[in-house]
Amino acid sequence: MKCIFTMLIAALLLSGCSKDSDALYEGEQQNKLPSETSQPETAGRSIGSKVMMQAFYWDVPAGGTWWNTVSGKVPSWASAGIDAIWLPPATKAQNGPFSMGYDPFDYYDFGSYNQMGSTETRFGSLSEIQSLISTAHNNDLSVIADIVINHNSGGASQYNPFTSGSTYTDFQPASGLFTRSYYDFHPNDVHAYDSGSFGGFPDLCHDKVYVQNWLYNNSNSIAKYYKNVMGFDGWRFDYVKGFEPWVVKNFKNAAGGFAVGEYWDGNAATLDWWTGQAEASAFDFACYYKMRDAFGNNDLTQLNGDMLLKRNSYRAVTFVANHDTDEIYNNKLLAYAYILTHEGYPCVFYRDYEEWLDKNKLNNLIWIHNNKASGGTSYLYADNDEYVARRNGSPGLIVYINISNSWQERWVDTNWSNTVIKDFTGNSGWEPTTQGDSWVKIQAPPNSYTVWSVK
Ligand code: ZN
Ligand code: ZN
Ligand code: ZN
Repeated sequence: MKCIFTMLIAALLLSGCSKDSDALYEGEQQNKLPSETSQPETAGRSIGSKVMMQAFYWDVPAGGTWWNTVSGKVPSWASAGIDAIWLPPATKAQNGPFSMGYDPFDYYDFGSYNQMGSTETRFGSLSEIQSLISTAHNNDLSVIADIVINHNSGGASQYNPFTSGSTYTDFQPASGLFTRSYYDFHPNDVHAYDSGSFGGFPDLCHDKVYVQNWLYNNSNSIAKYYKNVMGFDGWRFDYVKGFEPWVVKNFKNAAGGFAVGEYWDGNAATLDWWTGQAEASAFDFACYYKMRDAFGNNDLTQLNGDMLLKRNSYRAVTFVANHDTDEIYNNKLLAYAYILTHEGYPCVFYRDYEEWLDKNKLNNLIWIHNNKASGGTSYLYADNDEYVARRNGSPGLIVYINISNSWQERWVDTNWSNTVIKDFTGNSGWEPTTQGDSWVKIQAPPNSYTVWSVK
């Protein structure tokens, strides 16, 4: 998606064969597009109370196997305490079998039309993603679709009266659905631009009623089709700085379900503002950068800094790494100990869970999150190499993070008096009894963490 040059080449190739694509659509629509069946079963599923899994990374293996790979992981993730999986953009993009999906072309081609160099997407076929979604649902996991609607890619060249030149804005997808022309992109007869564009890609105009109809108003709109036909339960919006927040609000209201935006900004106040405008959650980039500074610069007081999770925990999706950014190198597991014991909806990155970190330790932290991490937060102590916080719910917990090279001990005030507590991580063998005034001495090993709660 990074290269405009490949976009131009593909656009040239496509311009010669768009008529064939139309013919394909006429004859084969019945077989290529799934039809709406019954309303998806939603009982037993919820998003946001447990832990999300980002079920991909940049450049997962190509060849149409990824949906099956994820499907195979679903039962173990469900039993570990995951409640939703976030999939990459799932429809045909300009770079066809090589694309990670962020150069969207045909929003209705989940791997069933031969266009852009292949029938399957990089991740698999229509039937494979349908099977993945039903496997997830059978395991009480929700499925979050990655929605890329700031920009499009792969249109054919056409004369554009608004630029007095040619632009790659002639979109004739093989599904026959949501065809687009220069009227639907900037500049056009409405205005010259919106709040942002991405890398020179044709920038979709959300003020066009035609675009609004296809994104969320029509019964066959992307929002309703993904929800009612494909069975997606929630939405992750890519690059939401590129359009106004009401677009996310309208999309979410049309389809229902959980929504989170990628507003890539470390300013907690700005994130808070955006979540209010969009009526959606946001990835907590403020928390992410505070953790990077805390663990990277040996300054755990940063963990007391301004974050979305502290301004509005209900709207904060916390994370340690994602497909775009992975800057927390030192003590990464300790960063997971932070997000999985604090407020917000934590998202675990696939590679950290499956490849890079200790899966047993992550499973333990996920269990702690789902069983002990409730209530508001009291910040008990922070300095360069120690951080202690308490969750005040029932039962609640105390987390102790230590990035020094020696064991540390500290007296803290707990939620419990005259009660035996223990470290549920197993990193410490202690089982101390709190005093009548609820104070107790706890400890944490070097470059490690402990999480204390009632037995
Ligand atoms: Zn516009
Ligand atoms: Zn991104
Ligand atoms: Zn834009």
